[in-house]
Amino acid sequence: MANLNIDSIKANTFDAIVIGSGISGGWAAKELTGKGLQTLVLERGRDVKHVVDYPTTMMNPWEFEHRNRLPLAVKEANPIISKCYAFYEGTTQFFVKDAEHPYVQEKPFDWIRGYQVGGKSLLWARQTQRWSNFDFEGPARDGYAVDWPIRYADLAPWYSYVEKFAGISGNKDGLDTLPDGEFLPPHEWNCVESHFQKQISAKYKDRHVIMGRAAHITKPQPIHLQQGRAQCQHRTICERGCPFGGYFSSNASTLPWAAKTGKMTLRPNSVVHSIIYDEKKGKATGVRVIDAESKQMMEFYARIIFVNAAALNTNLILLNSTSSRFPNGLGNDNGLLGKYVAFHNYRAGISGEYDGFLDSTTEGRRPNSPYIPRFRNVYKQETDFLRGYAAGFSAGRASRTNQEGLGASLKENLHKPSLGGWYVGSHMMGETIPKESNFVALDQSLKDPFGIPQLRISVAYDDNDDKMVKDYLEQMTEMFTAAGFTNIRTRDDKRNPGLDIHEMGGVRMGKDPKTSLLNKWNQMHAVKNVFVTDGASMTSTSTQNPSLTYMAMTARSVDYAVKEMKKQNL
Ligand SMILES: Cc1cc2nc3c(=O)[nH]c(=O)nc-3n(C[C@H](O)[C@H](O)[C@H](O)COP(=O)(O)OP(=O)(O)OC[C@H]3O[C@@H](n4cnc5c(N)ncnc54)[C@H](O)[C@@H]3O)c2cc1C
Repeated sequence: MANLNIDSIKANTFDAIVIGSGISGGWAAKELTGKGLQTLVLERGRDVKHVVDYPTTMMNPWEFEHRNRLPLAVKEANPIISKCYAFYEGTTQFFVKDAEHPYVQEKPFDWIRGYQVGGKSLLWARQTQRWSNFDFEGPARDGYAVDWPIRYADLAPWYSYVEKFAGISGNKDGLDTLPDGEFLPPHEWNCVESHFQKQISAKYKDRHVIMGRAAHITKPQPIHLQQGRAQCQHRTICERGCPFGGYFSSNASTLPWAAKTGKMTLRPNSVVHSIIYDEKKGKATGVRVIDAESKQMMEFYARIIFVNAAALNTNLILLNSTSSRFPNGLGNDNGLLGKYVAFHNYRAGISGEYDGFLDSTTEGRRPNSPYIPRFRNVYKQETDFLRGYAAGFSAGRASRTNQEGLGASLKENLHKPSLGGWYVGSHMMGETIPKESNFVALDQSLKDPFGIPQLRISVAYDDNDDKMVKDYLEQMTEMFTAAGFTNIRTRDDKRNPGLDIHEMGGVRMGKDPKTSLLNKWNQMHAVKNVFVTDGASMTSTSTQNPSLTYMAMTARSVDYAVKEMKKQNL
């Protein structure tokens, strides 16, 4: 009996455990296995294999039962997830449905999740702007949250490292607000977008319109071909899964790369319940897992643990990891675990029309669009709100199928759409300030289908966010007017926090264990062999999309952890 026990412990023991297989977990798996560690990747959802498990990827609109739109019954059954633009008939298989995994909205919060191998990496919009020193210095300069324990220079080589492997397209724009990276050729502009870009640089010294940097292979390099990935085909149906591997996902890139080392054990349907803390050893020894199919609780062990379950689920797992040493959650000596959660303010948008260029139109599709880096409060505080916003921008020409004629003339006319005028639009991407009052906690009574406490989310906008929305609408109206756009319409859709899908914080990095949970290596101050490298670790949120930063931080943190293991410090 004792031998049996020892054998089963051995079988369940690895060098490293990674919790979650999305963008950050995929990178942890790739880096750990690449450095020779036997690595167990625990993923709560089902397996999704590259290409074979993308059931809708080759379907035409007429092949869908509901022409690729959401049936009313699905919409009504999923009021939260239906608000996400990427949730449609062709993608429903990759989103968590509202009733499946309940949570408590102490304040309205739309929690958008993808529980499967690959996580949300299958669904994301692939915008990959680096953060800059203006972001990492923000809290210290403006006096909110706590000072980041790192600066841009700490991450810069790791940005380069992950960019080359993931494949990021972009232009070297030479802006200090948005550092350049290792870019594949950028996507193209259309004439109205170029017009806007020229007008803005002529009128403003400090405002720029650039092509978004995006995780698309515009020109495959040997490293991409070695991953089995090919050039992006501009199909713009990425969120169904891409059989070309044209955009970066864990499924197409990091996970198969990790598998090739022979060192990865990927265990889908494994819901991590909590991390096991051994008081005698003074460290974490493994994790408790509920098998999603058998509902049995099991344990797995390792020398180091990377928590990459996506920001709020990482908070949940740590809060649920209680012991007599840590009665309020793992590493939570200061009571701040779950607090200082922040997100991105995506509430505002603006649209307009343009009368010129009626002899031109666009051809084909583009999985990306221009981007306006943050220009407010960059070098000095100039408004009555803290921080600033970036903005997306795009222009297109309305076209309608020409159905005139019969027979041959109808066929010919179908190829000649009737063109309307040009339309333009922009949406806001604002930084929000992390505050202690924006927090997540475990609900004391409600449990999920696995008996794990439900997450109680208490996150809201504040006065700073309202002022920022007002400023974005004023400034963009001025910029649209300067570019000669007409029929300008502004909107504040007052969407709930969460729909930006950039929730961050709760397990923040910092210099001082009294005011933060993680050190500059994303390592828990109080439990040295546990690392958190997803959005939970973010001290503040920047305005840039965060996933590239999670990738870079993960690779950097694994590098540190493995060096520490070799020195026998872990
Ligand atoms: C429509 C959409 C558009 C987006 N656009 C962009 C963009 O343009 N740019 C950008 O930077 N970001 C974008 N994002 C956000 C981006 O997807 C996330 O920031 C990123 O996926 C986070 O990586 P992650 O590894 O932390 O989490 P995920 O990719 O969500 O992976 C987490 C994984 O952990 C698993 N997990 C959770 N709990 C447990 C548990 N208890 N046990 C075991 N496994 C668990 C989940 O099932 C999941 O597979 C977008 C997201 C969506 C949905």
